[in-house]
Amino acid sequence: MKELSCDLHIVGGALTGLLTAYCASSLGYKIVLSERKNITLDNKKTTTDTRTTAIAEGSKVFLESQGLWKFIKGFAEPIKNIKVIDETANSNLDFNNPINKSNLGYIVKNSKLISVLINELKKKNNVNFITGSSLTSITYSNSKIISFSNDKKIKSKLIIAADGKNSTVRKILGTNFFKKKYKEKALVISFFHERPHNNIAYEFFLKSGPLAILPMQKESNRNQSALIWSNKPEIVDKIASSDLNIKYVKEIINEKIYQQLGNVTNINSLQSFPLSAHINEKFYDNKTIYVGDAAHSIHPIAGQGWNLGLRDVKSITKLLRETKERNSTIGTKSFCKMYNDKCYYDAYRLFEITDKLDWIFKKDQSYFKFLKKAGFNIINKNRIFKEKIVKFAMGF
Ligand SMILES: Cc1cc2nc3c(=O)[nH]c(=O)nc-3n(C[C@H](O)[C@H](O)[C@H](O)COP(=O)(O)OP(=O)(O)OC[C@H]3O[C@@H](n4cnc5c(N)ncnc54)[C@H](O)[C@@H]3O)c2cc1C
Repeated sequence: MKELSCDLHIVGGALTGLLTAYCASSLGYKIVLSERKNITLDNKKTTTDTRTTAIAEGSKVFLESQGLWKFIKGFAEPIKNIKVIDETANSNLDFNNPINKSNLGYIVKNSKLISVLINELKKKNNVNFITGSSLTSITYSNSKIISFSNDKKIKSKLIIAADGKNSTVRKILGTNFFKKKYKEKALVISFFHERPHNNIAYEFFLKSGPLAILPMQKESNRNQSALIWSNKPEIVDKIASSDLNIKYVKEIINEKIYQQLGNVTNINSLQSFPLSAHINEKFYDNKTIYVGDAAHSIHPIAGQGWNLGLRDVKSITKLLRETKERNSTIGTKSFCKMYNDKCYYDAYRLFEITDKLDWIFKKDQSYFKFLKKAGFNIINKNRIFKEKIVKFAMGF
């Protein structure tokens, strides 16, 4: 069995793990990043994920501060305006950016984000990125935490668990969590369409569940957008199944988006995702902290899941920097707890907000319709309140 020693062992090499490794490596820590999947690091196709991520302006500012945005911005389509249409109560909201110059957010393909992060990590000589390595057990010895995967023993001062919503680290350590299963799946489609999107993102609240249309970059000079539709699993499965002719898929989307984008001319990708949300009882354990979906996952209704994970990375980066400057030790109980205290409330708040939004916008009874209409009216008439909502969505 090969033995490795490092300061930080980051488990999980997807969006959050890769970003954590990049930010921590810039501070000079010696890092092992282990990923279960067999990713070929030289291969351009590093993921089968065809989703896009809506990166909030606040997240972009952090990526900029880490020197990463310059590599991402070429793939990012700005969102300049968000239109919210509640079909269940017949009300609309229109959000613009109150802060001059900056956009509301950016739409980037997950595959591009992952490629950029892997490319930049490959340039770092203090990161050992091991793929095809699945963590299976953890023990402790003196001041170290030791993990075992297929053929490796990795000794570190701290494990950063970035191993997603079904975190193995959480299972092994027995960290408690609260889980909510939605009886919904998300249908994720990218498609070409006739009319330009004009950098507008749409959020439709339909009886069946929320449907978002997000502006993507043009490809071969053709207008492109992404659609994310939360709906009953049987409906999503039917649309996603290969026995439904693509002609009907186009017709179903046309019915929802024709007024905004014209006809769908091509379906470029189609995937579905079961929806659930969870939050760990705490974001740390013995010599371990949880980041991204390993700590929390939320309903995608507001496109905020990874933005929240990125804020975890921002917090741990700050803490790692301060600890290094003070010449003190990482991985102690007070270190891990300090991280928890910085991140927990933010995650808990967003977990609750997204859960309640999904709940209320599916309600069709007249009492709820009245409440929603009244809420939209209040927001529309109150500029300061509206600006507060925009700033919150932008991550400020
Ligand atoms: C339909 C949908 C749309 C979304 N849209 C948005 C959006 O627009 N904006 C936004 O901010 N968020 C969005 N999200 C949320 C976002 O996708 C997630 O928050 C993000 O992908 C989580 O990344 P992660 O790296 O934390 O976890 P994951 O992507 O789950 O990665 C975990 C990694 O750990 C690895 N791993 C697991 N177990 C082990 C092990 N034992 N050993 C080693 N490695 C292991 C896995 O292979 C994987 O690579 C959306 C989510 C959904 C479902």
